[in-house]
Amino acid sequence: MLSVIVPCYNEEENVVPFYEELTEHTAFLKEKGVELEIWYIDDGSLDRTVEQVRTLRERDERVHLLSFSRNFGKEAAMYAGLENARGDYLVIMDADLQDPPSLLPEMFAYLEEGYDSVATRRVSRKGEPPVRSFFARLFYRLMKKISRTEIMDGARDYRLMTRKVAASVLSLGEYNRFSKGIFGWVGFRTKWLEYENVQRARGETKWSFWKLFLYSLDGMTAFSTAPLMIASVVGVLFCLLAFLMILFIIVRKLCFGDPVSGWPSLVCIILMTSGVQFFCTGILGQYLAKAYLEIKRRPIYLVKEKF
Ligand code: UDP
Ligand code: MG
Repeated sequence: MLSVIVPCYNEEENVVPFYEELTEHTAFLKEKGVELEIWYIDDGSLDRTVEQVRTLRERDERVHLLSFSRNFGKEAAMYAGLENARGDYLVIMDADLQDPPSLLPEMFAYLEEGYDSVATRRVSRKGEPPVRSFFARLFYRLMKKISRTEIMDGARDYRLMTRKVAASVLSLGEYNRFSKGIFGWVGFRTKWLEYENVQRARGETKWSFWKLFLYSLDGMTAFSTAPLMIASVVGVLFCLLAFLMILFIIVRKLCFGDPVSGWPSLVCIILMTSGVQFFCTGILGQYLAKAYLEIKRRPIYLVKEKF
């Protein structure tokens, strides 16, 4: 059986079109004797997403719903999908048809060839605001430097995997989830497919710039501890600098008898060092906050309804 997992947050316009397009492109499964099930994970939608899924269910028994008690985020929805779906193969797809179902036959063929997981990445970011693309690129470049886990530039969450891979992903029960990193971390033989960016079919993106920024911080703290090094490195550099300046001032005083002059330079130095200190304390705070949330061991999601 193949389970299709679809995180949905206010996607009332997309539920049915997604179903139509998906069933059209998964006809090939029948010849292979593979069954299909579709799991819509309603991430606390405020619109008619749940009703849409319910009417679909009346038409087709293969449609399932898992509804959260509130908005827990896409990461939680993906986790819930992997946990509840029963297929031998699982695929995660966005409801807005940005993950083209037409790729499924090719992806499935790679699994049959012996790959454990088939992942996709977009090679272009056409139709996206330039500022967003710029920061996305910056994020991936930075992550490549500071993290030992492979995190692919432009990777989508659109991924087909075997049950074994899904179980491995579920075994990482962390609260601060960053799937792009988690999939890289678990390993397995992965085939990467590339495609041109497809624009959202209907509705609006659910990710504001601020939400994406916070998500990138999640990614950094979850898959790198390098930022914690900044304090140590800058600290050592400043100590060296201070030592050189002390030498300079002593020598100048002894040779030329110059009195120490210029409080503006002093103010600059104080501002600079205290700035660096606050920055480093902030980084420390980020890790502490994440650790705090992990320690509480709260559930990743809460279910309101399931069928
Ligand atoms: N989504 C979700 N919970 C959220 C935000 C988004 O389940 O809090 C779902 C959304 O319904 C969609 C997918 O995640 O199916 C991708 O979201 P979106 O298309 O808004 O993001 P983008 O493609 O613009 O990055
Ligand atoms: Mg989208």
